[in-house]
Amino acid sequence: MSDCLFCKIVAKEVPADIVLETGRALAFRDINPQAPTHVLVVPRAHHENAAALAAADDGLADDLLKACHTVAVQEGVAESGYRIVFNTGEGAGQTVFHVHAHVLGGRGLAWPPG
Ligand code: 5GP
Ligand code: ZN
Repeated sequence: MSDCLFCKIVAKEVPADIVLETGRALAFRDINPQAPTHVLVVPRAHHENAAALAAADDGLADDLLKACHTVAVQEGVAESGYRIVFNTGEGAGQTVFHVHAHVLGGRGLAWPPG
């Protein structure tokens, strides 16, 4: 997807503070962090949202969740607790239509979320 911001980050055409690279996923710090740990975990392959990722049914969703946990361990929030968020659709706040997991932690996380 030539006009996709996160495809450009995956291709290293747009700089990002990368914290993890795996064969199929990339994790980088959110440019506008909402918590002490706020990392975006994306598949290298372009899928519009979590539903499309799951529908691909090729193990990529599993890899993405594993990468989220690896990031949480690296960031030191796996023990205290962290949240994985997939905003799906504009009404839920999705602004970049390349599926990404927000990994949030390092502070108390209110429930229910806003
Ligand atoms: P969404 O709103 O789609 O769930 O999440 C998109 C996220 O991408 C937002 O939290 C936003 O701060 C982040 N973001 C937008 N542009 C950039 C960028 O150029 N670099 C990085 N690292 N994050 C970005
Ligand atoms: Zn993309």
